[in-house]
Amino acid sequence: MLSLNNPVRENYPFLINYFTKGIENENKNVAHCILFYGTDIQAQYDLALEIARMLNCSGDKSPECNCLNCKWIRENQHPAVLTISKVDNKPANDDSKTVISIEQARMIKNDLLVSSDYHRVLIFCDKDKDGNLCGLNEINFQEPTANALLKTFEEPPSRTTFFFLTKDKTDMISTIISRAQCFFVPSMKEEPRDYSLVKDTFDGYLELERNEVLDLNDKIIALVRENDPMEVLVQIQNYMAELLKSNLHNRILKIKLIHDINAVEKAKKELLLNMNINTIIETLCFSLIL
Ligand SMILES: [Zn+2]
Repeated sequence: MLSLNNPVRENYPFLINYFTKGIENENKNVAHCILFYGTDIQAQYDLALEIARMLNCSGDKSPECNCLNCKWIRENQHPAVLTISKVDNKPANDDSKTVISIEQARMIKNDLLVSSDYHRVLIFCDKDKDGNLCGLNEINFQEPTANALLKTFEEPPSRTTFFFLTKDKTDMISTIISRAQCFFVPSMKEEPRDYSLVKDTFDGYLELERNEVLDLNDKIIALVRENDPMEVLVQIQNYMAELLKSNLHNRILKIKLIHDINAVEKAKKELLLNMNINTIIETLCFSLIL
């Protein structure tokens, strides 16, 4: 459940800004199918609800707005913002317990035929036996169910957005992946932050000379070719954050690292805007090595 003091806005400013810009665009430039992936499904869910709130707000559009739509969504009681899981929003005669069922898919399809005053948001996810949010996978969200909804995902009624929450893109059926705009949602929990992908490349980067920029550039390009580019950027930030933590007494190094973390943040934003990855990485490298 979202509280008024919403950590999602603080934890994911780049995603919030990205969607705010899309929603404020006069054409409401937001994808119909949005896939979030990462280990923190609750954060993905809260993010989807916050975007649903921004899409439906009939008040002053501020994060604190308390119009009826915003209030309903904060209480997760909005009639047009629905959780779709194996235990939520099933037809009355549906006794399937382990999957989002084909009957459920048909019900959704029929419900969407009726026009709505709201911007409809359907959040596809899973829940464990205690009701905790979990990610979709090929067991709880199977191909026949997805196929029953494929046309709807491709050409949804206006003002309708589907979210798919999953731990890893490889857990999702490919027909959804290919139709969705995918966003990595890094976990902000206090678990040790992973930088295993980038450690070898970045060890000693602070000592690199200007004539070694292209070398660093080539190494990062190789990383983003083999991995998810957003994940690589997040891990670079994790690496820098760890360096920062162990060098808090060193004022000059601290300023340099904060500069670098911001430079990677800029690269993440550019990636969300679908700018050319080679250009993004090159700009980043020149900004890191002064
Ligand atoms: Zn509002």
